[in-house]
Amino acid sequence: MSSFDTILIANRGEIALRILRACRELGLKSVAAHSDADRSLRHVALADKRICIGPAPSSKSYIDAAAILLAAELTGAGAIHPGYGFLSESPDFAARVEDAGLTFIGPASYAIRLMGDKVSAKKAMRDAGVPCVPGSEGSLPENAETVQKIAQDTGFPIIVKAAGGGGGRGMRIVRSLDELDQAVALTREEAGRFFGNSNVYIEKFLEHPRHVEIQILADKHGNAVWLGERDCSMQRRHQKIIEESPAVGISREAIAEIGERCAKACETIGYSGAGTFEFLYENGEFYFIEMNTRIQVEHPVTELVTGIDLVREQISVALGNPLSFKQSDILLKGHAIECRLNAEDPTTFQPSPGVVKQWIPPGGPGIRVDSHLYSGYVVPPHYDSLVAKILAYGTSRQEAIDRMVGALSELKADGLTTNASLHSRLMGEQGFLQGGFDIHHLERLISGGWLKQGAVE
Ligand code: ADP
Repeated sequence: MSSFDTILIANRGEIALRILRACRELGLKSVAAHSDADRSLRHVALADKRICIGPAPSSKSYIDAAAILLAAELTGAGAIHPGYGFLSESPDFAARVEDAGLTFIGPASYAIRLMGDKVSAKKAMRDAGVPCVPGSEGSLPENAETVQKIAQDTGFPIIVKAAGGGGGRGMRIVRSLDELDQAVALTREEAGRFFGNSNVYIEKFLEHPRHVEIQILADKHGNAVWLGERDCSMQRRHQKIIEESPAVGISREAIAEIGERCAKACETIGYSGAGTFEFLYENGEFYFIEMNTRIQVEHPVTELVTGIDLVREQISVALGNPLSFKQSDILLKGHAIECRLNAEDPTTFQPSPGVVKQWIPPGGPGIRVDSHLYSGYVVPPHYDSLVAKILAYGTSRQEAIDRMVGALSELKADGLTTNASLHSRLMGEQGFLQGGFDIHHLERLISGGWLKQGAVE
């Protein structure tokens, strides 16, 4: 059974601080493995040990597996927490950590590999009884006529997707047969170039889906539980902006049914750790699209409605402990909303790094702020623009919204251009207030000139 007393945090920003706090609560030591540009991060100051793993570009630091493994060896860390992004979903990195005799805080490398390939993930899910978007059984064959037959059987419009795709790349919508051959050829070529895997597959293209995901936790003893859902339909360019739980208008029975299947699927594939099953939801049906085999940005939404510390459980499970609760112990209560505060222009969405002259986070009942910001901190230009997650919890959705409105009005991030005003406006936007909008809602608002209608200061 694994045992470790020191965790190397191979990440930065708010999630590094979040992991550090979990280590502290569990009585574990932490090592901050940081880039040269991140010396002044809060978690670097708070960690038991700190070590620079390379220059600012993440290719030379946060995704340099050899540098991170060396840092773990030099600092005596027995486990590595990858957070999200960077190396968190790299099966090769997880395998190297395992081979070095260390604990990777996440599922075993084989499970990351299985779920990282969308074709094998869909097969595993179908076998486990999880509903998937209709389409090709596996990767497309070379024969053009067979591909045409598959596309016609699926029914246009369809979407051609790369098996190894990620980050919203390697996908192409095809509306008629005459566009098919070229779309498949282009997607194959791109997939080979970007993901080193030219396998592609076909799915029915859903026109107005919502993005609803299920959080799961599983231990190494074959126990898995589901912890409710998150609706992440407020997106721009496939990037989530606001997440909430529960999802408006979906029955508890439907969520429980899909949750049970996800938990069962974890048991079937031998999955351990935290994970998320992502679904498109349309006309009352769930369609699995992919699994994220790591902790997610929006995990606090689930923490607020369940009262369960997901990062702490994730580490505990990695230590070999059984889950500390059963499915029947998990009670979903109240409503939680998360707004992602990005250092970016609220109308052009251009990243806007710089000096935070004054940072005053909001507070009060039901408010949680996960952020690495402090007054005087300089947001470097090299990384993701997420600087804080503002969360509001209430007994009802309306109470959560009211609290979020208050929190956003209190927030001060002088010196930094953020999207706080976009969030404030969205909290009063009709479609949002009603709930149940699809993943194109925000883009539709933007292309309809909504941003310009009211001044977003
Ligand atoms: P990635 O790993 O690149 O994020 P996903 O498979 O999760 O790829 O898809 C990303 C996004 O693309 C989805 O959130 C959705 O907006 C859109 N999408 C993917 N598959 C479909 C589909 N079958 N129908 C409609 N939209 C889709």
